[in-house]
Amino acid sequence: MSEDIHHECGVAALYWLDKPVGKGGRVSGQVSNRDVTPLIPAILLDIQNRGQLAAGITSYNPERAQILDTYKEIGTVSEAFRMSHPGKYAAIIKEYGGRAIIGHTRYATCGQDDTRHAQPFERHHGRLWKWFAFAFNGNLANYTQLRDQLLAKRHYHFTLDTDTEIIMHALSYRLRGDSPPDLRKVMASLARSFDGAYNIVFQDAMGRMMIARDPLGLRPMSWAVQGKLLAAASESVALANMGFTNIQSLEPGTMILVEEGEMRIERFAKARTPARCFFEWVYFANVGSSIDEAGVYTARANSGRLLAAMEDQGVQNNSVVVPVPDTAKAAADAYSFAMGIPCVEGLIRNRYVGRTFINSGSTRHRSVRSKYTPLRSVLNKQRVFLIEDSIVRSTTLRALVHQVRKRGGAREIHVRVACPPIISPCFYGIDMSTLGELFAPPYFGRNYKGAPDQDALDKMAAELGVDSLRYLPAPDLGPCLGVDPDSICTGCVTGKYPSECGRYLIRQAKKNYRAGRTGRTYE
Ligand code: SF4
Repeated sequence: MSEDIHHECGVAALYWLDKPVGKGGRVSGQVSNRDVTPLIPAILLDIQNRGQLAAGITSYNPERAQILDTYKEIGTVSEAFRMSHPGKYAAIIKEYGGRAIIGHTRYATCGQDDTRHAQPFERHHGRLWKWFAFAFNGNLANYTQLRDQLLAKRHYHFTLDTDTEIIMHALSYRLRGDSPPDLRKVMASLARSFDGAYNIVFQDAMGRMMIARDPLGLRPMSWAVQGKLLAAASESVALANMGFTNIQSLEPGTMILVEEGEMRIERFAKARTPARCFFEWVYFANVGSSIDEAGVYTARANSGRLLAAMEDQGVQNNSVVVPVPDTAKAAADAYSFAMGIPCVEGLIRNRYVGRTFINSGSTRHRSVRSKYTPLRSVLNKQRVFLIEDSIVRSTTLRALVHQVRKRGGAREIHVRVACPPIISPCFYGIDMSTLGELFAPPYFGRNYKGAPDQDALDKMAAELGVDSLRYLPAPDLGPCLGVDPDSICTGCVTGKYPSECGRYLIRQAKKNYRAGRTGRTYE
């Protein structure tokens, strides 16, 4: 995608169990002295597409005075773990060695960019089951209500303005008492009060671990066990790259629980129709991942084929297909093959330009120039079918289109979008939380059913400065992803949300929009 749309993070967990659960092989052969910490940086690198602002770990080692110990730093995984300094990297891995570990990569949709907001959060306590650390991926849609309830009833004070802090207090409260509570009941109780997306990895100083996926399954969570090594991560690709061959998705509303060195799966919330975020397949997830057994690459390729089947522009000489790097590549390849038009690299992405440098540009055009180079040798006098995975705010795409025409010399630009128009905000962890920031809503009225009419498309194309614009229709999302259409969240493309708080927030968002109020809807 040309825009910088972000996610609320990635999580990971590893545990060296007491007894083997499956065949061992290469994966568990990588662990020596029951120390799983050397394996965590590679997993975090593989889920770094979900957040590059901070990274952290908490390891469990009962032989240390600091039974749970947390290390977290601002920056990418390589920066946080000092990977370009082998000595410093080795020292971190040694210091935080342990038989169990949780990890996190963070992008901030709320909260500041400092280590206090980085995860895992650790709560120190003299009693072992009250001493815990956790990390989470998602967004609590009812964050404000939960915060206000705590403030009103229990005289709480919050030092950070994040839902992570709410989860911290909610966990602490449920772990009170004179004996360790049942962690399944703790999760069940959280599920009764939380609304939204919350995949949690948790461990306490008694050596217990839980890995939970929220009842709607909004965010992905994969796990695998081979020999004595249990692993879980937000994305399956991280486990596949470790060598696991039996990777499974954690069912929504269930948790993996490790106690006394043994694992089991428990259900903490009633089974219900899931609402997996379709945007994970379209944009966020690593193209090498599968979510609930549906491949990300296959979904993107299917959407490209469908865009080709819908194409109403004839194929002429001097036509080329150009993906907006990198996430539109699979859709562009499939579209190109089906259309019989060559797919070429007309836009080169500068992979080494940092986020800070891009943002420091004073204009959108300048930041686009530092991020993409349009190749005149490829684009000049061509009829360009520019494949984009989605359009959220459109600001960067407009600048990109300008560059493709002016610097690249394209004769015509036809934008094809492998996602339906984004007409509504997200309240579950994707960084688009107000109606006013979105490009598409002004073009659609109350009768919009997910497939834009020609008049709306022509107006949007004119606004973007392109010759034509086509989107994937919303009703085709399920077949493209290869999943039951009723089992995905389509809130941002239909305005219909899978949770009570989501439905409340969209009413608020519309009121704010009409009143000209800006700011995140749930604040
Ligand atoms: S509203 Fe859109 S981006 Fe948010 S969880 Fe649902 S499908 Fe995903």
